[in-house]
Amino acid sequence: MKNVIHAKCVKCGKTYEATPNLTNCECGGILDIVYDYDYIKKSLTKEKLKTRPNTMWRYRELLPVEETTPDTPLRVGWSPLYEADRLGELLGVKKLWIKDDGQNPTASLKDRASAMAVAKAKEAGAKIIACSSTGNAASSLAGNAAAAGLRTFIFVPERAPKGKVAQLMTFGANVISVQGNYEETFELSKKAIDKWGWYNRNAAINPYLSEGKKTVSLEIAEQLDWKMPDYLAISVGDGCTIAGVWKGLKDLYAIGFIDRLPRLISAQAEGCHPINRAIAENKPWEPMEENTLADSIAVGVPRNADKALMAIRESNGIVVNVTDEEIMAAQKLLGTTCGVFGEPAGVTGTAGLRKLCEQGVIGKNDTVVSVVTGNGLKDVANAIKFCGEPMKLPNDLDALVAEIDRRGLKTE
Ligand SMILES: *Cc1c(COP(=O)(O)O)cnc(C)c1O
Ligand SMILES: [Zn+2]
Repeated sequence: MKNVIHAKCVKCGKTYEATPNLTNCECGGILDIVYDYDYIKKSLTKEKLKTRPNTMWRYRELLPVEETTPDTPLRVGWSPLYEADRLGELLGVKKLWIKDDGQNPTASLKDRASAMAVAKAKEAGAKIIACSSTGNAASSLAGNAAAAGLRTFIFVPERAPKGKVAQLMTFGANVISVQGNYEETFELSKKAIDKWGWYNRNAAINPYLSEGKKTVSLEIAEQLDWKMPDYLAISVGDGCTIAGVWKGLKDLYAIGFIDRLPRLISAQAEGCHPINRAIAENKPWEPMEENTLADSIAVGVPRNADKALMAIRESNGIVVNVTDEEIMAAQKLLGTTCGVFGEPAGVTGTAGLRKLCEQGVIGKNDTVVSVVTGNGLKDVANAIKFCGEPMKLPNDLDALVAEIDRRGLKTE
């Protein structure tokens, strides 16, 4: 890889050659991929990008893959960035965009990391990839691997929503539903990966995955014609996504494609916010219970806290915690004002933004991008619970008229 110098431990600074099988540093720290920005500056231009395919692989020069490694088969990335004027006005900000990453092939941002995992597993010559996941890393890995002809072993906690498990079974993964929480699920996957030597897609351990996730911010920048907003709001679980988002922004800054960096808004659930607590109290992070219905961010022991905390601090970021009710209200609000249906963890960034607007922290002079990280069809049970029932009627127009009158609905 001519564009990559090496991988460097974020804790002790030790460097490693960037081979496809890299995991954590021997000190336990997480590795970060270090690029040769001078080389990249010479080989990538904004003009060149215009001719590239609308997938995450359009940013190859900024990705840690060999030049000969083929694009993965599913169309990952280039999700729409909507101007959300009605919602922006409602929240009272100057300009709001919604990046709908639920429109990835398996319906979450995790596809960006899983496509990277598949590309690196192919480079490593692996036939089996494994991961543990709250659900979306699992389903995205199973889908992207299936399309590329690789097999998967997937560990999910037993509370994983049915929609995500249905995806796993459909994509033909070997699925292990672990009787325990995410922490225990992660532990079992680690032991199994050690035993059988499978390619490891666990996001914090594999330093390439947040490089895949960073393509979401590369896209946002390109879709905004390289003019960056004041804030970028995103939900946080393990912390790999927000760390990736920040890495992408810093890459673009380093090669001169953007001239300012947005501040990050880290949104977590009130019932599980170890990363935000560490920022708010300016202390090392500590484990927390996993008490939220937003299953994808119910992460009591974040696997990538170091990188996430650095990203939030470096960006002069803001942390905000929201209750499950606030999350579900944001889901409805995104649905009614934007036609975007996000899963609970998917809309947590927007819920956090709304709260910061109500508190007057963010307001009428600010421009914001809010990323919806997963699609609502993955977890229909919670949506139905919070949105209520439809009108239930027989095939009878009079009954329909009466019901519409009773509800006072406008018919014109
Ligand atoms: C995984 C996930 C997140 C959080 O990403 P982390 O890297 O765990 O912080 C947010 N939203 C959705 C829908 C996810 O699947
Ligand atoms: Zn180290």
